Amino acid sequence: MAQDVLANAEDHAADFRPVAAGARLAVVACMDNRLDVTRLLGLANGDAFVIRNAGGILTEDVRRSLAIAQHALGVSEIILIHHTDCGMSHLDDRVFADRLAAETGQRPAWRPGGFTDPAQDLREELTALAADHPHIPAGAEARGFIYDVGDGTLAEVAR
Ligand code: ZN
Repeated sequence: MAQDVLANAEDHAADFRPVAAGARLAVVACMDNRLDVTRLLGLANGDAFVIRNAGGILTEDVRRSLAIAQHALGVSEIILIHHTDCGMSHLDDRVFADRLAAETGQRPAWRPGGFTDPAQDLREELTALAADHPHIPAGAEARGFIYDVGDGTLAEVAR
């Protein structure tokens, strides 16, 4: 698999066109392989900063990236995307940390970040962005959405 996609990267340079750095939009989304953010949002290369992790949650590093994107790279709008059937919505932080410790001999220093309800987690993240973290959105508009991996639809979650 890796060898196949690396072959594509060699072809990529053949019709490559550079794009300008900086964009108005940042997207924070789960890394789930069923969620094709660029296709879903019709993004072309250069249209947005796309930040992904397990769950699409606001870790300290996501906050760091959002603050840099907004204050140094021109971002004025932020979209958060969670999705149905997310692995993180079935993950108990303590059970997972116990499992890692048992399998590897070392307990993770980071919080796995599991949640039970993606919509509720999104609401909490939108609130955190607006209230708890003055570096972001600092004037940027932040909106949250749930992507349905079963039918491909995107539904907004009201703050
Ligand atoms: Zn997910």
